[in-house]
Amino acid sequence: MFPMEKLVSLCKRRGYMFQSSEIYGGLNGFWDYGPLGVELKRNVKDAWWHDMVSGHDELSVLQGAPSEYEMTGLDCTIIMHPQVWKCSGHYDLFHDYMVDCRQTRKRYRHDQVRGRWAEAKGQKVFVTTMVETDQEDEESLRRAMKFFKLRNKDADQLSWDGGYRVLTEIDDFSQVLGPDANELGTLTEPREFNLMFKTYVGALSGEEGAAFLRPETAQGIFVNFKNVVDSSRVKIPFGIAQVGKSFRNEITPRNFTFRSREFEQMEIEFFCHPNSSQQWYRFWRDRRLQWYKDLGLSGERLILREHHTDELSHYSTGTADIEYAFPFLPEGEFGELEGIAHRGDFDLRSHMEGKLDEKSNPLTVQLGEDGKPKYRGSGKDLTYRDELTNERFTPHVVEPSAGADRATLAFLCEAYHEDEAPDENGKLQSRVVLRLNPRLAPLKAAIFPLVKKDGMPEVAKDIYRALKKKFNVFYDEKGAVGRRYRRQDEAGTPYCITVDGESLQDKTVTIRDRDSLEQVRVRIDDVVSEIENRVSCS
Ligand code: ATP
Repeated sequence: MFPMEKLVSLCKRRGYMFQSSEIYGGLNGFWDYGPLGVELKRNVKDAWWHDMVSGHDELSVLQGAPSEYEMTGLDCTIIMHPQVWKCSGHYDLFHDYMVDCRQTRKRYRHDQVRGRWAEAKGQKVFVTTMVETDQEDEESLRRAMKFFKLRNKDADQLSWDGGYRVLTEIDDFSQVLGPDANELGTLTEPREFNLMFKTYVGALSGEEGAAFLRPETAQGIFVNFKNVVDSSRVKIPFGIAQVGKSFRNEITPRNFTFRSREFEQMEIEFFCHPNSSQQWYRFWRDRRLQWYKDLGLSGERLILREHHTDELSHYSTGTADIEYAFPFLPEGEFGELEGIAHRGDFDLRSHMEGKLDEKSNPLTVQLGEDGKPKYRGSGKDLTYRDELTNERFTPHVVEPSAGADRATLAFLCEAYHEDEAPDENGKLQSRVVLRLNPRLAPLKAAIFPLVKKDGMPEVAKDIYRALKKKFNVFYDEKGAVGRRYRRQDEAGTPYCITVDGESLQDKTVTIRDRDSLEQVRVRIDDVVSEIENRVSCS
């Protein structure tokens, strides 16, 4: 695949993504979406909402589903009652291990620091780096040579003992050269670091007013379960969906938007009867995988990874990740796009009864030192009564939890291609093209008059206005038409419509397809329906 820098530079050049607060040097882990990026991400979220929620056919049994089901939505606040996070487990357990460097004062995630044992001048040192894996060899060599004070001509004095290892495999840090340090043994022992951002609500100072920015959207759904059941007449099985911002104080945000500190999630909590929950789990796992395929992620780079039993949380009887082979990862490695988890009744019970014991028996409430429940639940009845059978039960939950930013990044990576296309004189020119699915493309079409005279702009502007009522389209009359095509190829615009001399005679225009480069003549009156057909069939 292509080097990631090419996509990063295209995103900047064409206004897909910018570093947040760039004019002040940027803020690590925060990204802004530019004029094209905001449209792309919105289209990803809209496609998800349409396909999963608003466009869901509640009267038919979908392929693989045990029965019909309903879908509804919510939009909850980012800051919630702090007790939510205590009962959900995030307050105690949502942490990563970090190591600090005493020399540089930098902080790293323990499991993300990689290095190799290097030997020279009778000394053995574990040389670490935090660079992208394709630059790792070069950077490790540079750092080791510098540490041992070796010149290039003395490179044969340096030898490596084994391949790369993660810092978590190293017990003694005294011989470790930290990623940015030039002395040995400057890394501290790993310590827990809660990933939730803390803030203070209202005028209360101190812990009384402390609250957290949500690290996931899911909990807003669980705590509103009863409200939705009581107000909307939904019947189990049904799902509640939410799209919104989440915040995690990631220790080492990296790989462009893949690991950010502020990001958007698209989550569904699907409530069902315990007896059919395994079938629903399999249904959602397969349905979510197919969604990415339908929007253009190819089978080869997209995988479904079922977790081994020892990876599962105690409450889960099945979890699978949908993963994509992002170009910034080493060959053969995949990054998570979405997790689909069977969560049993863990969440609803935690919010009813209090924080459940994570490690041993999930049915026992975790007790504090005084023997009372450590975190009391809401005490509200979050069970469900089936009106037909009169059975009362705590629903089981299947949770497909996706990241809007990671999905957007994966669609961009998959779309990026370099090839050749003929210019206006028929000569082949190299081009960068984003082969985005037309449903996702920020602009559906661009309209060009071939030249800026002879009445062509007027005709082109009329077509633009007719299309603009339905789609985001772009009008461009500047420069050679070949250059205009290439600009739209880079922006991922699937169709270019050109008004030429013939258009004025026979009231037709050409429609050029971004991917096949095929050009067909279409009557001006049919342009809107033609574009509509093409976009909806994609
Ligand atoms: P990871 O292991 O990569 O940190 P996770 O397993 O903690 O991810 P979940 O808690 O399951 O992630 O969150 C659901 C989805 O939210 C992920 O699949 C991902 O798409 C998205 N997501 C999670 N953390 C981030 C982040 N820091 N930046 C961007 N997206 C994220």
